Amino acid sequence: AKKAVLGPLVGAVDQGTSSTRFLVFNSKTAELLSHHQVEIKQEFPREGWVEQDPKEILQSVYECIEKTCEKLGQLNIDISNIKAIGVSNQRETTVVWDKLTGEPLYNAVVWLDLRTQSTVENLSKRIPGNNNFVKSKTGLPLSTYFSAVKLRWLLDNVRKVQRAVEEDRALFGTIDSWLIWSLTGGAHGGVHCTDVTNASRTMLFNIHSLEWDKELCEFFEIPMKILPNVRSSSEIYGLMKAGALEGVPISGCLGDQSAALVGQMCFQDGQAKNTYGTGCFLLCNTGRKCVFSEHGLLTTVAYKLGRDKPVYYALEGSVAIAGAVIRWLRDNLGIIKTSEEIEKLAKEVGTSYGCYFVPAFSGLYAPYWEPSARGIICGLTQFTNKCHIAFAALEAVCFQTREILDAMNRDCGIPLSHLQVDGGMTNNKILMQLQADILYIPVVKPSMPETTALGAAMAAGAAEGVGVWSLEPEDLSAVTMERFEPQINAEESEIRYSTWKKAVMKSVGWVT
Ligand code: ADP
Repeated sequence: AKKAVLGPLVGAVDQGTSSTRFLVFNSKTAELLSHHQVEIKQEFPREGWVEQDPKEILQSVYECIEKTCEKLGQLNIDISNIKAIGVSNQRETTVVWDKLTGEPLYNAVVWLDLRTQSTVENLSKRIPGNNNFVKSKTGLPLSTYFSAVKLRWLLDNVRKVQRAVEEDRALFGTIDSWLIWSLTGGAHGGVHCTDVTNASRTMLFNIHSLEWDKELCEFFEIPMKILPNVRSSSEIYGLMKAGALEGVPISGCLGDQSAALVGQMCFQDGQAKNTYGTGCFLLCNTGRKCVFSEHGLLTTVAYKLGRDKPVYYALEGSVAIAGAVIRWLRDNLGIIKTSEEIEKLAKEVGTSYGCYFVPAFSGLYAPYWEPSARGIICGLTQFTNKCHIAFAALEAVCFQTREILDAMNRDCGIPLSHLQVDGGMTNNKILMQLQADILYIPVVKPSMPETTALGAAMAAGAAEGVGVWSLEPEDLSAVTMERFEPQINAEESEIRYSTWKKAVMKSVGWVT
């Protein structure tokens, strides 16, 4: 059969905490043509530990690419039209591997992992100079969340990692680095790099000079020779070495939250988006200035779309547990069989009936940064049933977003007039309506929800030497939006919110 002719196409790997996807877009219309998704296993070997298998992650990427290419074939679309590939990834998750064999030396230590709590406590006692040493260079508070402490733990505790460092065989990377190195040839010429957005989440990267910071590496005792080269978010890093897309350049790389910011076209100072995946991340573009928060938000690199292009920064409110609480209700309590079923349960009751669920499974991130917090469900009565708990879980996601939005509004001075959203959880209409009710501003969702992948595809397609995607805003003017308007009154919303805050206080200080 004759294959249909299209404009140039761009693929995107979206490697998230819960799943891997590969998606192919038309660079002229931003239309999503085909995709494939595979869920990723999470291992919890001990209380507070979260690991993933780097090989499984890599395999899932190959599988998604192959399946998507098959689907394109069935649509009569010639895969030779795919001109570039972008990578977007779960951030901070830490991998160390052997550059001679290509084998990981330990499981990936996932961003949510809490094993480094005592490492963090010890380090915080020896911060040189003033307490601002880490924050002023990296924009981040010293926390279990970021890669440097996870890498410190691996160097301290895993003999294979220590030996590989001594023998000059070890490479460190976040998931983007692990994937790009492997996809461009691995032990046979793989490119060891990362982009500025991912680097800015390691806690070893100076967000002003855009280089690995020697003083930070000394403080964390990280050998600089194992770190990847830091590149912009949009340039050719290398070519695919195997599979259906062999020879296609990988030319975009963004941490997932930066990718979503780009995919939502938040290019102006003051534009923001909130992504509801495993966690929940609200990012507000602050332009070319680094803004430091007074209210528990992070300062992070938003993007740098080309080697000679300027860097943009963002303020970020990070919530550790959002979709993960739904997965927990599915996998640990078994009250639902699929994540989608949560909507049916919540709808049955339409209220939590005074039940509040603070899912502080990994402590609390923004705006509290409270590692001592643990999850609680409170306000239970004889009447409470699983539907109320389901509702309370959804409400928790909305309350947590309200807390980071309040912090953002205080830091920025100008309150957001509406909230742009995306991510796997935004398919849940009850959640979206609840969110509008709790924020008391409209919630706006693009009809094509895969904005993370879109952002990575845009970066890849716009790269020098590829040049099939123009980043002019009118390109996406055709995107349609779904709007959720607040339906309850502000007073009712405030009462619920203040009870939530009481519940949060009860979750804090649970572990000492
Ligand atoms: P990530 O990028 O972190 O892997 P995704 O954006 O793919 O996350 O979203 C997946 C998360 O969203 C999972 O934690 C899942 O439990 C949750 N989720 C998916 N669909 C729904 C739904 N209809 N209602 C509530 N939660 C959902």
